[in-house]
Amino acid sequence: MDLLRQIDRCLIKLGTRGNEQQIARVLRVELAAAQTRWAAGIRNKWNRTFACCDDRRATTAARCPEACLLTFDVQWVTSNAHHVVNVHRGPGRADMLNWYHDDSGDDAAHEFGHMLGNADEYADPACPTRSPVNTGTVMAVDTGPVAQRHVSFLCDAIGDGTVSV
Ligand SMILES: [Zn+2]
Repeated sequence: MDLLRQIDRCLIKLGTRGNEQQIARVLRVELAAAQTRWAAGIRNKWNRTFACCDDRRATTAARCPEACLLTFDVQWVTSNAHHVVNVHRGPGRADMLNWYHDDSGDDAAHEFGHMLGNADEYADPACPTRSPVNTGTVMAVDTGPVAQRHVSFLCDAIGDGTVSV
């Protein structure tokens, strides 16, 4: 994954595509509608909620002289994808690389969080040592918000602090 390559231009690209065999079981019109819903869900959740800032005294983008707002550009591609998502006919329980055609934008936003390297934050008896849990964030509840720690690795990578927008 080369997400970090473009951070200096305030743009991080993520490619996602449907597996052709799976697409055959999901009508193309359904897939197109889902892709539109998913891209919007990811953008609405993850974009412009935090920014990188080289002024360590700043705690908000408004107080940062040169804030670099984190913006994620979801592109559906047929080659050179960063991640290949298999799209199944729903309903079903999605994971990072297996999505169901009726998954919501919030569902996609949660799985996108995994693509960035974030772990689940909901309590699961099968994972008794998971920590943190019940955080209320997108990684715990699909409808929850992104937390600063979910994206701070991007700003860390260029030596900046992370600030809220
Ligand atoms: Zn998850």
